[in-house]
Amino acid sequence: MNTILEKPANCRKGCGACCIAISISSPLPGMPDGKPAGIRCIHLSDENICTIHAHEDYPKVCRNLRPSIEMCGYSFGEAMAYLTKLEQLTAPSISPASDYNDKNNRKEFQ
Ligand code: SF4
Ligand code: SF4
Repeated sequence: MNTILEKPANCRKGCGACCIAISISSPLPGMPDGKPAGIRCIHLSDENICTIHAHEDYPKVCRNLRPSIEMCGYSFGEAMAYLTKLEQLTAPSISPASDYNDKNNRKEFQ
């Protein structure tokens, strides 16, 4: 068994994959409807660092998302690939009877 994979991961400075790839349905400062998958959070700097991490309004949803080897992999590309696939697998199916924008159908990361 690979013991490296059993260790908890640290957030990789300058990654930001989870701030881009995943959809967030709860409000973020300046983004009251959260954000769709694949869209950069407005608080992610050009260096892919959260600019409000130390602020009191740092979102709970972000605070609660913990890094892991499974999610973060060993590079930005690995994390983007994993999280993009996860979004695709958990996205609500689109049919005439469903409302894609229905908040109740959007994934919560809380
Ligand atoms: S995907 Fe993982 S390593 Fe990258 S910013 Fe998010 S928690 Fe940090
Ligand atoms: S608020 Fe910060 S941690 Fe949360 S999605 Fe935006 S950039 Fe990422």
